[in-house]
Amino acid sequence: MLIDAEPLQALVRDIFQAEGCSEAESERIALYLVRANLTGHDSHGVIRVPRYVQWLRDGEFVANQSAEIVSETESTAVVDGRYGFGQSIGPEAVRIGLEKAEKSGVAVVALRHSAHLGRIGEWAEMAAEAGIVSVHFVNVAGSQLVAPFGGVDRRLSTAPFAVGFPMPGRDPVILDFATSAVAEGKVLVAARGGKPLPSGSLIEPDGTLSADPHTLYGPYGEGEAPDYRKGSGAIRAFGEHKGSGLALMCELLAGAFTGSGCAGPGVPRFCNGMLSIYMKPAFFGPPEAYAAEAQRYIAFFKSSRPATAGGEVLVPGEPERRMREKRLREGVPLSDDAWAAICATARSAGVDPSRYPIRSDAA
Ligand code: NAD
Repeated sequence: MLIDAEPLQALVRDIFQAEGCSEAESERIALYLVRANLTGHDSHGVIRVPRYVQWLRDGEFVANQSAEIVSETESTAVVDGRYGFGQSIGPEAVRIGLEKAEKSGVAVVALRHSAHLGRIGEWAEMAAEAGIVSVHFVNVAGSQLVAPFGGVDRRLSTAPFAVGFPMPGRDPVILDFATSAVAEGKVLVAARGGKPLPSGSLIEPDGTLSADPHTLYGPYGEGEAPDYRKGSGAIRAFGEHKGSGLALMCELLAGAFTGSGCAGPGVPRFCNGMLSIYMKPAFFGPPEAYAAEAQRYIAFFKSSRPATAGGEVLVPGEPERRMREKRLREGVPLSDDAWAAICATARSAGVDPSRYPIRSDAA
């Protein structure tokens, strides 16, 4: 089914408000989840609503928190998210980094203990909109989903990495991906009847490669929330030893260095850590010079002859911008299963989903 972004956002907002989040926080949660769907990252969109609500009720996520500055200098900050929603803590932490980079040229922000930060590209986009280059290493403390290169046992989180490169007067370049072959949310989307996984994304305990979500979740019934703690297999790291190495650095920088904690056992609570580096171009030379060279290079990069007939070389960030335009026009596609789970969560929160003018065309 296809759902218009606006009523979908209103429904999600009302669910979180009914669950005790302030109006402003509920607005932010709804905005960023629907924006993930609009950019094509359904894994980090409204499909997360049932799980977020469950974790809020279980006390894993805490409503209405703001970021606490643990320590700071002119160009550094250690920030504690106190397990507050990433949709509140994330933009606060980015704002701290942007203000410091504006004054000092460079800022490093070590964010610890944030609840799920969602699509990390949001934070790179926010910095790029302010004209600031940013690099983000992220991990998930307490998570255990991904096998390192050469292993079958889960030892890593899906540890995303993002870079935002502003291009004055043009769209920025936004690279943003999980260091696992697929984000866990994409396994969830596949388990809920959405896009199937690429072959070999997962690995069974005996080393057999798989694309079956049951490898990660074990058995789950219809309408039952798949739980990655119940499966015996793992997601594979992307890019063989190189991706596994980048994932390890995300764990070390975002988990150990920030004080948020690394993947695996021994960490009290599930949370995101994020080490972000912010750089203001004017401190490194005339912005027009870097912009002109970057623009020239991107044209050269894109001019590579397509590998397939009718194909095209894209720069990171382009697919998301195109998808946003399309989905704002046509609506957000959701599987019946994902929509049913959101409606069930809404009803359990006392919100009647039939009150929202959802368009329901065949996708
Ligand atoms: P993905 O595999 O879809 O890769 C996305 C990146 O590749 C983007 O930068 C995109 O612009 C670029 N890209 C895609 N197609 C391209 C093409 N044809 N040419 C050039 N570039 C192209 O992303 P993913 O690994 O599935 O991650 C999905 C989302 O999950 C990300 O937003 C990530 O931040 C998020 N995530 C979050 C957490 C968390 O704990 N908060 C954990 C894991 C992942």
